[in-house]
Amino acid sequence: MNKSGKYFISILVESADETPQLVERKIGIDLGVSDFAITTNDLGETEKHKNPKHLYKSEKKLKKAQRSLSRKQKGGKNRNKARLKVAKKHEKIANQRKDFLHKLTKKITDENQVIVIETLSSKNLMKNHKLAKSISDAGWYEFVRQLEYKSKQKGRTIIKADRFYPSSQICSSCGHRDGEKPLQIRVWHCPTCGECLDRDINASKNLLALAK
Ligand SMILES: [Zn+2]
Repeated sequence: MNKSGKYFISILVESADETPQLVERKIGIDLGVSDFAITTNDLGETEKHKNPKHLYKSEKKLKKAQRSLSRKQKGGKNRNKARLKVAKKHEKIANQRKDFLHKLTKKITDENQVIVIETLSSKNLMKNHKLAKSISDAGWYEFVRQLEYKSKQKGRTIIKADRFYPSSQICSSCGHRDGEKPLQIRVWHCPTCGECLDRDINASKNLLALAK
């Protein structure tokens, strides 16, 4: 039984291993701040995956329920009710996030044979905390966990970029290495080739380049 009072059972079954079907595509994934993830594949197709809007709404409702709980008297009957309400809101957010992540990681691992991602580090997480209270960071570890086990099931290869790989400093067009950029810089111009680069898309292209 979980905190919100729901019961679960688990059933173990045996099944034959399926032979993984190989696919041709490769993809680079940049984990973003305003978007959850930005991807570019080897056909040059780029996608920005936003955090689902309902996640933000649920977060607001959770905050409200938490405030209400904090005002309830200890040991009172109402406090228990409020506590259950908070547990249910937490559960809803966790389920919404998992649903979003499962759909995204299924699509990525269905369509791509080689998947390049950043290595999660406290530095990545820090940048997130500074910029936005982030709904994203709680999802990053789960996202990588799902990508890893689904890749294993489907025979895909995951490449993790070195944590010091400067994916946002290299021009994906000509390879020029520019300096470090504060996070508020979303677009920059390469001084060597003149290309106008969207920070996140450029990073996903640089990650993709590690697949070759
Ligand atoms: Zn350039």
